[in-house]
Amino acid sequence: MTEVVSISLENEMDLVLAHKRSMKVAEKLGLTVATQTTFATAVSEVARAIIEYTDNGTLAIGIEQNKTRYALKANVTFDSEIKLTAGNEGFYYAQKLVPEFELAGQNGAYVIDMRLGLPRSLKLDAAKIKLLRKYFQEEEPLNPYEEIKRRNSHLNKLTAEQEEELKRTKLIDEKKTEFISIASHELKTPLTVLKAFTQMAQATKDPVSERLRGLLHKIDLQSTKLNSLVQQLLDISRAENGNLHYAMQQVKLNSFIVDQLAVMQSIMPNHSVSCALGDDADVMIDILRMEQVFSNLLGNAAKYSRINTSVEVSSSLNSEGYIIISVKDHGIGMSADTMKSIFDKFYRADDVSKTHAGLGMGLYIASKIVTDHGGKIWVESKENEGSTFYFTLPNCEPA
Ligand code: ADP
Repeated sequence: MTEVVSISLENEMDLVLAHKRSMKVAEKLGLTVATQTTFATAVSEVARAIIEYTDNGTLAIGIEQNKTRYALKANVTFDSEIKLTAGNEGFYYAQKLVPEFELAGQNGAYVIDMRLGLPRSLKLDAAKIKLLRKYFQEEEPLNPYEEIKRRNSHLNKLTAEQEEELKRTKLIDEKKTEFISIASHELKTPLTVLKAFTQMAQATKDPVSERLRGLLHKIDLQSTKLNSLVQQLLDISRAENGNLHYAMQQVKLNSFIVDQLAVMQSIMPNHSVSCALGDDADVMIDILRMEQVFSNLLGNAAKYSRINTSVEVSSSLNSEGYIIISVKDHGIGMSADTMKSIFDKFYRADDVSKTHAGLGMGLYIASKIVTDHGGKIWVESKENEGSTFYFTLPNCEPA
């Protein structure tokens, strides 16, 4: 059936719409006033019978083609089991009005079909039916009730579309995470073997030329880098599945930070790292995971700023019992737009994509680690001036 009009049957007001619309469709088809009235009466009688029992019915009016013959058709669908019997006057009356009347249904979904054969003299064809459909799509609402109904239905449609889109995006995201998880596990094994063999070769007592030793050192260095990337990929899939496990222990924060800075300073020799630490505090952290946070923030501070600039680390206690740690650089900074997305998975600012290597995983993982420690992470930044990353950790009373 080519649907021309559809009306949800919820209350008495819809009966008026059902009647007027059926009349109008029959009139537009060029049927006689008597036929228009008969058809509209049958439709509204059935609609009334359904509304008496349920508010989930839907009326659809359209044209059905059977080879070269056309019929005007109305069907009412509803999904609750209503015992419509001859005792139901409207239903009974409607059966007498239209030549073809059928009630069918199974599994709680029911449909009442009413069909009225159309005379050949109307000379209906696909183009005319298309025009009829267009007419009713564009027709003004019959009354304020229909106007509200249309708006609601439009809103419902939009909501349903958005929900569908959300479901689709979620599914794609899940597939992506699954792929990352499989790929990173597959990469990890050969990488571990590669690293082990490199270290065995480095440790050999056999005579090795300086050049070969240098090459082995480079292979070892690069496989360490690769290993850290694969580790980040694994962390992403673990974070998504809620499987980032933490081995928490109580640590004196200041000495932990000082150790981190000493390690990082050796990795970023072209930047001077200074620190201004507040009163010492005890924190419950997973040391390896918190090292990841420091190495990401300090690594980024160096990566996104010119050599020979400084990176400043500070800590202080706020009034709510949290320690605020900041990492400040004097680098390229970022736009307000970029700031909104930097903690998203795989996000990289457009302007750094071509100039700086990276995969956009570090801050996503760092923010997950910080929030899993009960803290918050945020950034303040100005383009071409630099960025300051802040994160908090809860101060725990010494045991
Ligand atoms: P990556 O550095 O591998 O791209 P991150 O998740 O660590 O991944 O960072 C995400 C993005 O945030 C970077 O691509 C960059 O655009 C921006 N960003 C992070 N740190 C800084 C910084 N210190 N200065 C300027 N931009 C930064």
